[in-house]
This record gives sequence, structure tokens and C-alpha cells, in this order.
Amino acid sequence: MTSQDCDIGLIGLGTMGRNFVLNMADHGFTVAAYNRTTEKTRDFMAGEVGSRPIKAGYDLNEFVGLLKKPRAVILLVAAGDPVDAVIRELLPLFEPGDLIIDAGNSHFTDTNRRFKFLAVKKLHYMGMGISGGEEGARRGPSLMPGGHRDIYDRVGPILEAAAAHVNGDPCVAYLGPGSAGHYVKMVHNGIEYGLMELIVETYDLFKRGLGLTPAELAPIYDAWNQAELNSFLLEITAKIFTRKDDRTGRFLVDMILDKAKQKGTGMWTSWDAMDLQVGTPTIDAAVVMRDLSGYKEERQNAAKFLAGPTYTFEGDRPRFIEQVKNALYASMIATYSQGLALLQRASLAYTYNLDLEAVARIWRGGCIIRATLLEDIRTAYKARPDLPNLLMDPHLAQAFLAREADLRQVVQVAAGLGLPAPALMATLGYFDAYRSAVLPANLIQAQRDFFGAHQYERLDTPGSFHTEWDK
Ligand code: NDP
Repeated sequence: MTSQDCDIGLIGLGTMGRNFVLNMADHGFTVAAYNRTTEKTRDFMAGEVGSRPIKAGYDLNEFVGLLKKPRAVILLVAAGDPVDAVIRELLPLFEPGDLIIDAGNSHFTDTNRRFKFLAVKKLHYMGMGISGGEEGARRGPSLMPGGHRDIYDRVGPILEAAAAHVNGDPCVAYLGPGSAGHYVKMVHNGIEYGLMELIVETYDLFKRGLGLTPAELAPIYDAWNQAELNSFLLEITAKIFTRKDDRTGRFLVDMILDKAKQKGTGMWTSWDAMDLQVGTPTIDAAVVMRDLSGYKEERQNAAKFLAGPTYTFEGDRPRFIEQVKNALYASMIATYSQGLALLQRASLAYTYNLDLEAVARIWRGGCIIRATLLEDIRTAYKARPDLPNLLMDPHLAQAFLAREADLRQVVQVAAGLGLPAPALMATLGYFDAYRSAVLPANLIQAQRDFFGAHQYERLDTPGSFHTEWDK
């Protein structure tokens, strides 16, 4: 290979970057690769690269010199300051018309800021979400790009080749201007948080409620994954329950500390949902539970101090397992509903002009929240692109309603057993609130007017009213 013959460059040979370079090269594109720590670049070139069309730049000058003009570079570096640091280093080496694609989990407001900053320098910028973890990056992720449409077209063929494919459709689509891609990725992760929390609540009901072991749990989740609940997260959950620990010979899941980490994307989803006044309570509950999981010592002390119910489950166990399955499916529908309702609202607020059918389509493969259910979600938006909430789609509403009684039952059992199931409970509360023509917010209006003279509206007459409540 000669200089300036690489179709695309990638900076950041970490878990995602390394694999995405190999993926693009396997699809016939010549790729330039660079990493801040040169040792990593050397190891990569000496190891996995083999005869693939990959060329290393051992410093940024060399790397930039490998790229065809106008240049296109994907960043897969840690989100936050590192993205700004890399952009600053690239600036003196790039020319007007060159393109930087940030594929990390950047906050969408950072993407807006960088987009504007680089436009002044006459450089193009795209914020692109990527999902699928290591395996996805290597074999085909779901890609969520945003920016200028014509700039997407410049790199579209590379992204479409490298993305996962479902029934011949690539799991990538141009999503909208500015930070649309990173926003969609953020909400993807919010939904991911919600689904993971729902699954772990079912696990807790089975483990602490019914006393089931990982060996007994594996076939349950595996069977669920063969039917309507089919999804990547259930597939890996079933596999996790089969894995033995090399050190102790026990089930590995039983040896793992119950403290969940997070990088913030779930929290960002909840924040922005609150900013836009869209309810995402299942996702909020998932974020809260990750936080609470971190208080291990405090929970251990509280467990000695705060006694819970002594009730043990004495119902029909196979029937309960079936009810939990139905509760999980209904809650999955409601979680996607919340996330997509947020996207619907954000699309208007931030003028992303999102096509939610396309979002559902590109989430069907490659990403962490891929699930058979997304086919129904896609169909729902195809029939009605402005659907305010998936629970208003006749087919999905029916699927929820058919399982509603089981969700109520499971929530009751969890409450009776004293087992935390905030995501299942929040989902049910969300459903009951959403379907309530009348809510008790009239009393909130009265209270606000009482203590703050905030005024209220009446049911019978338009306008704003104030009452001297104490007089
Ligand atoms: P890794 O931790 O594996 O790699 C981080 C990379 O960032 C390394 O190449 C590192 O270089 C580089 N880096 C960090 N700081 C700087 C800096 N100041 N200047 C230049 N380079 C820097 O990360 P991942 O591959 O897991 O993640 C990359 C991005 O992709 C993140 O935004 C992440 O949130 C996102 N992502 C990750 C997923 C995953 O499953 N891992 C899934 C989807 C998105 P060096 O070797 O020199 O330290």
C-alpha cells in the first residue's frame, strides 16, 4: 500500500476500535489505524491484522498521511475530554472538507458543541452511536450516525458494509442532523438499562423467592429466549447461568459481587427525559437500582437492622414462572414505549426529524437491545410514524393487555415477599397512569395554589384561578 490510499482511518485501538478496524478491513476497505499508546498499535499490527488491508500510523502525522482526501476518521476513544484532546491534535493536520466521526458514547450536548466548533474550521463532524460490544464491533454492530446527510453518504457504503444485517437490511441508517445519532444511542442505552433491570428482578424473584439455582434458571431463560421474549439480553442471561467458576467450581454468577457499575448513559437518558418532561420510570428505576447496588456495606448493615416480611412463596410454582415471563414481556414493551416516546419528543424539541421505524429497524440486529419484539415495533411506526406511544398501537396494546393481569400478580408477589422489583412496579404504575383519563393532579394544583399562589385551571371554565384557601 502507498501513502494516502486508505479509505478511512480509526483512532483508538481499544476494545471497540481494534475490532471495528478488522471488521471494515474484512469488507474490503483499506483502513489506517492509530492509537495514542504506540505499544498497542504494534501489538495489534503484529497480532490480529495478518494480511488484511490495514496500515498503522505510529504518530498522528504518519496516520493522517495514510488517508485518501477528503479524509474521514472514526474516533473510538474514551468519551469526554479524550475526544476533545484528539480533535485538538487533528486540527492542524486536517484540511477543510475532512471529516471526523465520533463513534464513542459522547453526550449529545458535547456533540452539538463539537459540531459547531468544527464547522467554523470548515471541518465536517458526525456523532455516531455504536452498539454491540466487542463481538458487534468485530462481526457487525448497530450504527447510529447523525450529522449532515450528504456527509453521511460519503462514508455510508463503509458503514453499511460493516454493520450487522437483518434480512439483508444493514443495521445502520442516517438518523438526522447534529447530535441525532448520539441521542438515539443514549436512549438505546437507557432502554438497555431498563431491560437489564427487569431481567435481574425476575432472577431475584426466582433466586430468593423460589430458591432456584443457576442450573434450574438456565433452561427457563433459554426457553423464554426461544419464543416471544427472544432477545440478545435473554440469550446471554441463559448462558451466564450455565457458566462454572474455574476457581471454585461453583456457578460463576454466584461468585460475582452484587455491585453494578455504570458509565452514565442510562442516567443521561433519565435526565433528558425529565428535562423534556417525558416519563421513563422503568429506566429511572434501573438507574436508581444500579446506584443502590453500590451501597453494599450500607445494605449489609440495613439488612440486620430493617427486617422484611417473613412470607414465603407457597403458590403454584410453574404457574408463577409463566406469570413472570408474561410480566417481563409486558414490561419490555413498556420500556421500549418509554424510550421511543422520549425519542418522539426529542425529535421535535431538537429538530432531529427522526424516523422511528428506521430506529427500530437498525436496532433489530447487532446491538445489545436487539429483540424479536423490535419487528412489531417497526411495524407499528410504519403504520403510524407519529405514534405518541407504542401502547397506542393496537397489536402491541393487545400484547400488553393480554399479560397485564400477570404483571399485577408478579408485582403483588414481589411486594409480599419483600423483594425489590422497582422496574416491574414502575412499569405497572406507568401503564396505570398512562391509561388514566383522570389523575389526582387536581389536588397538586390546589396544593400549589395554596402555598404559592401558582393558580390552577378549572374543568368547567377556561382561564387561571386563585383561591385564598385559608380564608
Ligand atoms: P477502551 O477502554 O477499550 O479503549 C479506550 C481507547 O481510548 C484506547 O485506545 C485509549 O488509548 C483511547 N484514549 C483514552 N484517552 C485518550 C486520550 N486522551 N487521547 C487519545 N486516546 C485516548 O474503550 P472501548 O473501546 O470500550 O470504548 C471506546 C468508546 O466506545 C467509548 O466511548 C465507549 O463508551 C464506546 N462504546 C464501548 C462499548 C463497549 O462495549 N466497550 C460499546 C459501545 C460504545 P490508549 O491505549 O493510549 O489508552
